[in-house]
This record gives sequence, structure tokens and C-alpha cells, in this order.
Amino acid sequence: MYRTHTCGELRPLHVGQTVTLAGWVHRQRDHGGITFLDLRDRYGIVQVVADPSRPEVHAAQEARAEWVLGVTGVVRRRPAGAENPHLATGEIEIEATRVEVLNPAKPLPFLINKDEETEEAVRLKYRYLDLRRERMQRNIILRHKVVKFIRDYLSERGFIEIETPMLFKTTPEGARDYLVPSRLQPGMFYALPQSPQQLKQLLMVAGFDRYFQIARCLRDEDLRGDRQPEFTQLDLEMSFVERDDVLDMVEGLFTAMVKQLLPHKRLLASPWPRLTYRQAVERFGTDKPDLRFGMELYTLNDIFAQTDFMVFQNVLKSGGVIKCIVAPGCADYTRKEVDDLTTFCKEQGAKGLATLALTAEGVKGTAQKFIKPQEEQAIQSLTGAQTGDLVLFIADSAAVANKTLSALRLLFRDRLKLADPNLLAFAWVVDFPMFEYNEEEKKWDAAHHPFTMPKMEDLPKFETDPSQILSDAYDMVLNGYETASGSIRIHRPDIQQKVFQLLGLKDEEIQAKFGHMIEAFQYGAPPHGGMAPGIDRLVMIFADEPNIREVIAFPKNQAGRDLMADAPSPASEKQLNELHIRLDLKKTD
Ligand code: ASP
Repeated sequence: MYRTHTCGELRPLHVGQTVTLAGWVHRQRDHGGITFLDLRDRYGIVQVVADPSRPEVHAAQEARAEWVLGVTGVVRRRPAGAENPHLATGEIEIEATRVEVLNPAKPLPFLINKDEETEEAVRLKYRYLDLRRERMQRNIILRHKVVKFIRDYLSERGFIEIETPMLFKTTPEGARDYLVPSRLQPGMFYALPQSPQQLKQLLMVAGFDRYFQIARCLRDEDLRGDRQPEFTQLDLEMSFVERDDVLDMVEGLFTAMVKQLLPHKRLLASPWPRLTYRQAVERFGTDKPDLRFGMELYTLNDIFAQTDFMVFQNVLKSGGVIKCIVAPGCADYTRKEVDDLTTFCKEQGAKGLATLALTAEGVKGTAQKFIKPQEEQAIQSLTGAQTGDLVLFIADSAAVANKTLSALRLLFRDRLKLADPNLLAFAWVVDFPMFEYNEEEKKWDAAHHPFTMPKMEDLPKFETDPSQILSDAYDMVLNGYETASGSIRIHRPDIQQKVFQLLGLKDEEIQAKFGHMIEAFQYGAPPHGGMAPGIDRLVMIFADEPNIREVIAFPKNQAGRDLMADAPSPASEKQLNELHIRLDLKKTD
């Protein structure tokens, strides 16, 4: 028998018992001829004491970090003063009667027993060692608990977990597909699903009325920022529901989850706040606002209607906006600090930044000479800015002003520590535009995906102004991240046809790509809707981690490579021949 107990479970109540343990050497040290080992498994660490006068425990002396040992011994209380309050097992130790080397270990590329900075590439190459570290064990176990909670919660509410195929046809979420060549049908390709979107809708047609899946999604995107080529969603879909039925279900799920799994975290508000897309962009400059702190954006077009300042005048004339935010307590920023902020704004695409510092000695800043006292008064009463604050203005197109001020707002969040890390500001953003105009390709794109239901009252705008059509799409946001998207779906073939047409799809294309959907929807499709919270991102936020790689057991690096297994890697000549594939690598360089 390898073990009677785990390393983490022994307590004073076990004193006097003979136990057998197995685990890794976390630390080893000699004290006055006696060997002390910290033996570790995923349940915890326990101290083992080996007296070299016993030959059966000699192995304790030769053991090194991360060797795998089997230990038998008697649990005893630690001598008074030698207890370790930081360790769950800190009141006891094991007096070893047998120490056996189950497997030695080479010297390690990095220490497991210290949470020291290790280069990311090294961590990923030796991911199985990185995963031994306490932080990673905690994250992966939290992830398991989150997924289990979801499964239990939804199963109790009549949801059925159904797997959908990985080898499928393109199911569009706006990214590039990963293709898999078919050996049996030369020249044909499966697409790996960007999400189970179509399949979950077909499950509604099949009558499964409440479906979910912990689904892997694969999107061949440029790996900007914190993205992975494959990631995991809680994919869910419900029939005979309206928007609020879906939102209430998901809100209930995460509210209960936080209560049970994250008692140290607080929800900003219950019920969660709801903003329309328009309100979110107007007040925070983004559709994924971090609501843990204020610093809202204000539109000053009315206040500056009579401005003499040419730059502002021109922006107003060209249909742009003048917006500001107030950075609390930053009136004493130096010239250099303001210059750095200006550079930051330019990087966001803004033409410039104007500032007004409300100092005790009066108003200063680059905008001071252009702003009349009554304008300044009006800004103060609109924004609540006070002496000591710095007002930051962007005058530009609405899109640029919003993007820039939203980025500034987050910069100040981090700089001034305005957001409580233990606060979870869940919120809903609703009423998204249905379409976005793609300037590059001169065509309309679906803002969410083409199966999203437009608002019924906006249907006439298909002919007049598609940019004004709102949809029944919604996002769940949390602390500045988009953590889920979803929508009520189109269940009427005539509306689906209209959407495909506006997206510029030809009839043959619609038939080839989505013929199966259109056909299915003619056999009695129930009204339905759903959404898909991103598990990686949510667990990342719950675990206070800065990126999703920290909560995925085997992630790819920023270039999409698995550094541990060294994938992607070349295929053999034989494999390529079987697939009827000839490489033409010249074209890619
Ligand atoms: N399929 C969508 C996505 O992956 C989610 C949904 O509409 O349910 O974002």
C-alpha cells in the first residue's frame, strides 16, 4: 500500500497513529544530525523527521528536492515552540520508521518550493513541473470547482449536458477556422467549431429545451493580448425564453457560485446593474466597463457650444464630441506627467489631450487659456470635479474620444488603485447594434453573429438604415472584461434570410454554408436563446490572475506554440500523402 493518508490531512487527532505517506520532497534539511523533510502532495505538506540511527530511514538523507518518497512513521506532536502556524499540519510531525525512494529526480529547471519569477517560456516547457507549484494547483483546483458548480447548478434546473462534434463545418464567430483535412474524402475539410452555436440551436429544434456544455472553442486568430487558439466556454441554450429568462438564469448561477466558492469576494450589486450598449459607451467609453469605480466620462458638447477655441469648434462642426474624465487628486501633475499622458492618448489614436488642473492657487493646465470661467463652472457642476482634481479632455470623433478616455480611465484605475481587487462588478450590457459596417471590405458584419434576433420594431430599418438596427444580444461584463456573450436567436427562416442577405451572402453561399440550419428551421423551431460565459477568463478573474494562461493546464504561448510538446510540428511525408496534401511553403515567406 502506497499510502494510508495524504500529506495534508494529518492533525493532532492522529497523534500516536502509524501512517504511510507518499509524496514529493518539498524541502530537506539537516539539523544536528537529524534529517527534516517536508513531504508534499496536492493536499498539503507534512514534516517528516528521520533519525539516522535507524538504517531504514537512511534514504531521507540522500533525498533531494522533488524526489518521490514513501514514508512510514508515527504521528507525534511537535515540541512546544516548534509548531508552524502557517501549515495546516503544523502542530504535528511524522517520526519516520521507513523511508523509501520511489523515484529520484534530476535537478530541476526551477524551484517548486518558491514562488519565484520564472521565465514564461521555461514554465511552459516544463509545464508539468510548473503545475506542481502551489499557485497553479490552487488555480486548477478552483477551475475544477467552478466547472463542477456549473454542472450541478444547471443539472438541478433541468439542463442536459450534450456533447457536440469537434469535426464539423464552419460555425461563424467572426474568426478564421481551423481546418482538418479529410483522408477519406480527398480535398475536403472539416472546420473545428469556433463555438457550438449552430449545434446548440439545432438541439433546440430537437426539443432539448435546456442544454449546456463545457465546450472547447477553436479560433485561428492573431493571438493579440490574452488569447488562446482554443478556449473553454460554458455554452448554454434555452427554448421558449425571452432575454431576461436567460440573464436571470446566468445571474443566478454566478451569484450562487461566488457565494459558495469565493466567500472572500463581494458582489458589487445584486441584482446586477444593466446598461444598454449606448449607455455603457456614453458613460464609460466601452461596452465592457469596469464598474468597480466611478470616473465616468462626460460629454461637454453643450457646454462648449459657444466656445472660442478653434480646435473644439472644429470638432463640434465635424460632428465630433468633446468629452472629459476627472482624475481625482492629480491637479499637481508635472508638465512631464501630463506630456506622458498626452503620448498615451496619441497612441490610442487621439489627436491630443487638453487638461485643466483645479489647484488651490487657481485653474491651470493646457486648456486653461481657452476655457471661459462660466464653462469651467459648468464642467465642475456637471462632473463634481473639486480642488485638487485634474480634468482631462479629448475632442475627437466619438469613437476615438471614447476609446481614449476609456483607456485613460483604466490607466488611472491601476495608477490610483481605484478598484477593489475583492469586488466582483458583474453587469449586463444589452441592446447591442445588430450590424457593424466594415469599412475595409465595404460591407456589413454581424456585431454578434448572424443568428442573433434583431429587435422586431427595427425590422423596417433593414431597408432604410441597418446601422440603427438593435438586436437582442447581451454581454456579461466583469471588472472590465467581457465574460460572456449571447442573444435571443432568429427562429423564423424569413428573418434569417434577410440577415444573410444584408451580410452580402449569395443564395448559393447561404445554401452551401447554412442550408442545414435554414432547412431545420422549417420543421418547427421553437423560439430560443442562450449565451456562452468564458470559463478561462472567469476563473482568471476569480483567481486574481493577470492572464488566462495561469488557469489553463496546458496553454499555448503568445505565438500559439505548445512549448512542452513542441507543437505545431511537421507532418511526415506519409501522412501528407494520405491526405493528398503537397506543401508550398515558399508562398508563406
Ligand atoms: N456562440 C456565441 C459565442 O461564442 C455565444 C452565444 O451566442 O451563445 O460568443
